[in-house]
Amino acid sequence: MTPDAQKLLDLISQKSKLAAMVAPSFPIMYTSSELISTLKLIGFSYVVEVAVGAKRTNEAVLKALQSDPAARFITSPCPSFVRFVRTKYPQFEKYLALSVDSPMIATARIVNETYPGYKPVFIGPCNVKKLESSQDYPELSILVLTYKELEEVFEALHVHKSDDTTSVFDISENSTRIYPYDGGLTDTSGVRDILRDEEIRIVSGWKECESALQEFESNQEIRLVDILFCEGGCINGPGVVSTLTLEERKKKIQEYSTLGKLQSYL
Ligand code: SF4
Repeated sequence: MTPDAQKLLDLISQKSKLAAMVAPSFPIMYTSSELISTLKLIGFSYVVEVAVGAKRTNEAVLKALQSDPAARFITSPCPSFVRFVRTKYPQFEKYLALSVDSPMIATARIVNETYPGYKPVFIGPCNVKKLESSQDYPELSILVLTYKELEEVFEALHVHKSDDTTSVFDISENSTRIYPYDGGLTDTSGVRDILRDEEIRIVSGWKECESALQEFESNQEIRLVDILFCEGGCINGPGVVSTLTLEERKKKIQEYSTLGKLQSYL
């Protein structure tokens, strides 16, 4: 049992007021109704899609690019990439859009506004989000668990996954559900409406990060680098438990995203 999985078990046994914030990569492992109903079964009062925070992230990126036609940015939702820049290439830190909240942080603010007094618990694919929470935003007091750790909690509680198909997110957002694969921010934020293709770079994978920074430095035409440290994006994060290939994972996300759009028309 990891310390954070144990923390969640302790909070549950103390009957703490809990709000789950579920990262948009969840369809790789669960259906939405299965995850929501099982989280409610173990003690969460609310379950919120982190895609809702991603929408705020998008709005802030778009505003920053629109407000200064000369501005050049490197996206910052990936805490591994942020730490890579801080430790190895600090000269690029000024380009990180650090004033823009990541989807996790923006969602925690929404949870605090909507459900005051509830502890935000982020569930997602990423171990390094733990550092983003504890080092960069300690005041939000977010407990971060990976899907792997959530499975440990389910196991410790001897929970049989529920699947109440009427379960829906308490706060949801359709438009940003493709966020966890490479280019998700670019393709959902509207930046393609204000920037030309030559002004945008979409990069994923730690092996590509150094050359992406070099190109950003040498090619002043580039105004936005949309970058994630895991190859393929968060769908390939270390906290995901899946034997699916990257293409299969991406397809799961696309299917869920399309489902949301269809539902919004009905
Ligand atoms: S790309 Fe990987 S390291 Fe970056 S936020 Fe996603 S899961 Fe975490």
